[in-house]
Amino acid sequence: MRVPMMAGNWKMNCDLDEAEALAKGVVEGVGSIEGVAVVLAPPFTALERVANVITGSNVKLSAQNLYWKASGAYTGEVSPKMLTSCGCAYVIVGHSERRGRFGVPEPDMTDDLIRVFGDTDAAVNTKAKAALGTGLTPIICVGETLAEREAGLTDAIVRDQVIAALEGMDAAQINGVILAYEPVWAIGTGKTCESVEANRVIGVVRAAIDWVAGAGAAADITVLYGGSVKPDNVRELVEQPEIDGGLVGGASLKAGSFNELVTVTKEVRGS
Ligand code: PEP
Repeated sequence: MRVPMMAGNWKMNCDLDEAEALAKGVVEGVGSIEGVAVVLAPPFTALERVANVITGSNVKLSAQNLYWKASGAYTGEVSPKMLTSCGCAYVIVGHSERRGRFGVPEPDMTDDLIRVFGDTDAAVNTKAKAALGTGLTPIICVGETLAEREAGLTDAIVRDQVIAALEGMDAAQINGVILAYEPVWAIGTGKTCESVEANRVIGVVRAAIDWVAGAGAAADITVLYGGSVKPDNVRELVEQPEIDGGLVGGASLKAGSFNELVTVTKEVRGS
């Protein structure tokens, strides 16, 4: 039985007061909802403040990234245990903005800058395992760039990313992950992947999970769609049988629109 989910990725937005106000708006609107997992992923700096706001509600906390080591000389990095000590239950791993897979490079992104974050498939795998080892649920993002889609490589790229992300995990670990199909060209661009196509590619994600973990393994794993999910397209997306909810950037920055995504998901998919 898969739990539907709506997760808000705030990216590099919200100072402490803005984060607190946004989290309060979500708790007031959907904080007691059941049957849909509601997850907020503020920047590291706001994790503790948001944790205080959501305490006692059904809203859960996620980080946007982590480093796999427990502690040490890794300037600027944040360990899994630091995240659990802030109250995180989830962590996003392998977001395309961390992998260095940009759909629409900004004018000042030279090749060197594009590689700044550059998480490889191996790093994504190591981060996901470190998360699981610390009791965090990784939300692992996969997806193709526009050039890859136009070259007919979507299914191969997505399949390879899923297989690499799950490499070396046992069945119980794989059962503990969440996948998010996020076509890079649809992230932050306003272009949504057509719902039937998103559903089809998520079928590819599930087939790759089954290939790694055995037939039927994917049936219980929550797989999200991400890429310009908004109140006016969320219904047709979550009506698709393979799409268990959304990983949402822009529309999660206003409590009103994010709460609408949650309530529509509950209406369509909630128990
Ligand atoms: C995301 O941040 O993962 C995302 C999908 O962003 P947006 O909803 O803005 O496209």
